[in-house]
Amino acid sequence: MIHHNMWIVLVWIGIGIGILIAIILIVKAAKTSSWEALMVDNYCRKCGLKTNGLKCSLCEKRTQSFGV
Ligand SMILES: [Zn+2]
Repeated sequence: MIHHNMWIVLVWIGIGIGILIAIILIVKAAKTSSWEALMVDNYCRKCGLKTNGLKCSLCEKRTQSFGV
């Protein structure tokens, strides 16, 4: 019975280490400059709206309304 429980503990430790490595890889991938450039190009810097590299329609309206 003790031997069986030890295996369960080892499996859980393995799963924990696996999740930890996965989180580290995701964080590293998110911090890369290429990913940041992609995010900046596809999303508005001011409001975060998806623009697909185009000008933000939401911020465009705001600047126009404030200008007049
Ligand atoms: Zn915007």
